[in-house]
Amino acid sequence: MSKVIGYAAHSAEEALVPFNFERRELGVKDIQIEILFCGVCHSDLHTARNEWQNATYPVVPGHEIVGRVIGVGTDVSEFKVGDLAGVGCLVDSCRVCPDCADDLEQYCDHEVFTYNSPDKHTGKMTYGGYSNQIVVDEHFVLHISDKLDLAAVAPLLCAGITTYSPLRHWKVGPGSKVGVVGLGGLGHMAVKLAHAMGAHVVLFTTSPDKVTDAKRLGADEVVISKNPDEMKRHLKSFDFILNTVAAAHNLDVFTELLKRDGTMCLNGVPALPHPSPSIFNLIFKRRQIAGSLIGGIKETQEMLDFCAEHNITSDIEIIPIQDVNQAYERMLKGDVKYRFVIDMATLKA
Ligand code: NAP
Ligand code: ZN
Ligand code: ZN
Repeated sequence: MSKVIGYAAHSAEEALVPFNFERRELGVKDIQIEILFCGVCHSDLHTARNEWQNATYPVVPGHEIVGRVIGVGTDVSEFKVGDLAGVGCLVDSCRVCPDCADDLEQYCDHEVFTYNSPDKHTGKMTYGGYSNQIVVDEHFVLHISDKLDLAAVAPLLCAGITTYSPLRHWKVGPGSKVGVVGLGGLGHMAVKLAHAMGAHVVLFTTSPDKVTDAKRLGADEVVISKNPDEMKRHLKSFDFILNTVAAAHNLDVFTELLKRDGTMCLNGVPALPHPSPSIFNLIFKRRQIAGSLIGGIKETQEMLDFCAEHNITSDIEIIPIQDVNQAYERMLKGDVKYRFVIDMATLKA
């Protein structure tokens, strides 16, 4: 066992505070990683504050992890000490079910999330990346290019793959008109990725002050979603819309913008349900509302390689870990441009 320090929430109402715990002994297939940076995802906040009613405390959040390999088990073949390494939202799955066989571990009924999941190794819950070290089976560890800024790569491990996977699944590319709803951590990655895939990208935002940034990030057009006249101009015109909003809202104002057979995929997981969508909006044009969960390990590596090739990283604000509670408050106000990343060097043992 190795002694580790992290930051944990001990209840839904309390701020995150320093927390000492242990990581398991290195198994034969395990990789031990010194965590250098960890992104702050809205899911961290939802979980720390028990907004999904599924938190088991203490919760050590963090699933946008990048660092350096400091130990490898005897049967590890893909990594060596000194390599850069990444860990996203998953650290295990059953490996034998149809979902695992299809490299879609995120849909495995026995997936183990990086934090707040029962850990079969320790009998406790998994603890995430707001910590200085992690031990993970090599199947769930990603290779990171040394060509990109390491801190800005961290958010690709969740925000990047969560948006890349549906864009690929719904075959976004040249000739597609794609909407992205919400310019936060996920949304800004969706804009960059859809642009790099060659689509015509329209960003929907509730924040007028984000218009200039959205264009710089790759949006061809920006629409203030609270303005009905601006929305009307796009009626029945989208092939695909990726909705990344973290709060419950009226979906109808977006479904009516889809073409016949168009799909709006929901990425956001608000604490409260969305108001029920209009069935008329769906049946009259055979439109679909879908959902998508992160992405499998193989596709995550493909996304990281795509980003290295296209020089894509996240736009980040680096924070010391002591500021994480304040970062949560700013995230709730939409005041993040566009992902907080914790510099783990600020976590003193
Ligand atoms: P984030 O950085 O906080 O961004 C969310 C964005 O949604 C905000 O920047 C804002 O954009 C918009 N928004 C927030 N509140 C709103 C409201 N009341 N009405 C309208 N728009 C609002 O969050 P994130 O880290 O990108 O995560 C987004 C959601 O995805 C969260 O619910 C998270 O748990 C979920 N998630 C899902 C998966 C998955 O696998 N499906 C993976 C990761 C995260 P504007 O200012 O541009 O309007
Ligand atoms: Zn996440
Ligand atoms: Zn499985």
